Amino acid sequence: MRIARFDGGRIGVVQGELIFDVTDACGVDPEEWPPMGMVTTIAAFADLRGAIERAVAAGRGTPLADVRLDTPIPWPHKLLALPANFRAHAAEMSGVQQLGADEAGFFMKSAGSISGPADPIVLPHRPGRTIHHECEMAIVIGTGGRHIPLADAGRHIFGYACLIDVTLRGDEERVTRKSYDTFCPIGPWITTADEVGETDDVVLRLWVNGELRQQAPAREMVVGIHQAVANCSAVTTLQPGDIIASGTMAGVGPLVPGDRVRIEIDRVGGMTLAVVAEG
Ligand code: MN
Repeated sequence: MRIARFDGGRIGVVQGELIFDVTDACGVDPEEWPPMGMVTTIAAFADLRGAIERAVAAGRGTPLADVRLDTPIPWPHKLLALPANFRAHAAEMSGVQQLGADEAGFFMKSAGSISGPADPIVLPHRPGRTIHHECEMAIVIGTGGRHIPLADAGRHIFGYACLIDVTLRGDEERVTRKSYDTFCPIGPWITTADEVGETDDVVLRLWVNGELRQQAPAREMVVGIHQAVANCSAVTTLQPGDIIASGTMAGVGPLVPGDRVRIEIDRVGGMTLAVVAEG
């Protein structure tokens, strides 16, 4: 199932080029603040799934082109991220990264950096500085937990989405450099783990202005997807709707105003984003 947020907090299921409104089936008020509807939907998904599927079956669907997709989880409890999680990227960043992803643990981005598939990436005015794209997979937690064994990790994953870890290079604290507003586009929806299936052969790709910049299958991650869940939960209790950014592969490069960035993940989805300068 591909589950999306759209038109200011509605919940929808995407099938082909149509989106089916399941907001009522999920018991979500689109006007709610803070916008926790997707988190509560994920937390209760096992109980809601039947009602969601009935709403889809009874619905007419709206062309995706006629709605505005929002980022699926605007208010996660945590947005965790793995550093340099593909060996080739670790090599290109050598001298910057001190430890490999299998040793370094996770860092965090501000949840405030999350933006959606219809939002531009807004570059802050930092003359002489470089801002990079990092192509990543968002691992969305379904069932929370602490000290999750590797063998159980798959059962704690709700699904996956595309994620760009936009990063200002430099010497400031990493959290600061990665936490500007719009520095974490996530979307265009969450594809549930059962639909994605085995992830080893899933390829992540990122283009800038049509030029392929990053491409690698998930199997090349140093810390695999299940290991990432186990490792993060060894430190902090994971909650439904928490997001773990997978870390990126080789090929990170600069973004400048006017660029158009596209990210795609096999069996998950894809989205194209404008890059603009801060006004
Ligand atoms: Mn990253």
